[in-house]
Amino acid sequence: MVNDTTRLLGLDGLVVDRVRLDPDGVPVVALSTADEQAQCCPDCGVRARRVKDWVTTRPRDLPVAGRATRLRWRKRRWHCDHGGCRRRTFTEQVAQVPARHRVTARLRQAAGAAVADGARTVVQSARDHDLSWPVVAAAFTAHAGVVLPDEPEPVEVLGIDETRRGRPKWVFDQVSQAWQSSVDRWHVGMCDLSGGQGLLGQVEGRTAQVVIDWLGHRSQTWRDQVRYVAIDMCTIFKSAVREALPHAILVVDHFHVVQLAHQALNEVRRRVTVQVRGRRGRAGDREWDLRNRLTRSAKRMRAERVDKLCDEIAGLPAGISVPVLAAWNAKEDLLDLLALARTHPDRENVARLLHRFYQRCADSGLPELARLATTIEIWWPQILAFLHTGITNAGSEGTNRVIKTVARDAYGFRNPINQRLRTRCATTRKSRGHLNPA
Ligand SMILES: [Zn+2]
Repeated sequence: MVNDTTRLLGLDGLVVDRVRLDPDGVPVVALSTADEQAQCCPDCGVRARRVKDWVTTRPRDLPVAGRATRLRWRKRRWHCDHGGCRRRTFTEQVAQVPARHRVTARLRQAAGAAVADGARTVVQSARDHDLSWPVVAAAFTAHAGVVLPDEPEPVEVLGIDETRRGRPKWVFDQVSQAWQSSVDRWHVGMCDLSGGQGLLGQVEGRTAQVVIDWLGHRSQTWRDQVRYVAIDMCTIFKSAVREALPHAILVVDHFHVVQLAHQALNEVRRRVTVQVRGRRGRAGDREWDLRNRLTRSAKRMRAERVDKLCDEIAGLPAGISVPVLAAWNAKEDLLDLLALARTHPDRENVARLLHRFYQRCADSGLPELARLATTIEIWWPQILAFLHTGITNAGSEGTNRVIKTVARDAYGFRNPINQRLRTRCATTRKSRGHLNPA
């Protein structure tokens, strides 16, 4: 006989006999078994006839209508008399409350989902659900196993990027008289940049081999379907993709190209300041005051502001003005070149702008610009691929932001396997709950 209170509680296989209030005002729900199946032996499946005794269990459950409740399930222990069955006795069990479990399946599921989808840390979820840390951690792992896809679906544009895991540790080496990193942990993440699957997987370490291994675990068909791979200017990923996905076109992220140009410009400015002024730059030095304006794109400034900036550079001492202006122009040349992306540029136009940039670097005679030009030359096929496709690795960088948010919420992870699982729950599109890496 199923009554309304039973329906309200919603624990299949159990009926509510009565509800009374404890002296402290908490409802105590007396339950009995309704499921006939509970009377069958879990080993042989034969219905038992002989009651051994009665026991009362107190499984913990979710709050009902926002109020914590105490469940009291009075159930029977049976003798299994079936000949040949190894089991002598058993207690009744239902799907929500299996034998020997002190927590209902739905409470366990809610605690795991709060971590996987609700941005809760294990500690917070344990507190919210009045459970222990290991129980919630296990519940989360079980939940993640259900919601995360086993294998990624086909991907057209793959993004590869690295994330530092924890802080690097440095030790002073007495022999070489230099600081050397003793611990520096990394994760490399593979992202779907075209199909919206988010983070496909992460591997520990930062070597070409770990990337090759991850790609090697995918099927040949999956690998064949990857047409483009977006990476930072990182030779490790370059060689890994060359080996594992020889047919894919490598695209280098333009953000990192711009960053290199800014670095070169800043290095020139610092070096010539020291040479001319005999000390580091400081407030009051005009080139130091202009340092942020120098790294802004001229295209994004009003024309009169650009003119004013050029006048200001020209007004600096000659030993500073000439190299800084050359570096600034080289940076702008590179930006002009990158601005051709997504415009279907013709060959001559690209060649003309590239030549102008190389010429500027060569004419300046500055070692920083020579190095920049060399790097651009090494990576030119991948930069050209960016100009033609407009593919960026921004999706991977967005994912990295979420990875760091998750790590920070958890105050860091000791266990990298747990970290990867948590990260994937927050970034793999099919299952993630709240954080949007896009
Ligand atoms: Zn049996």
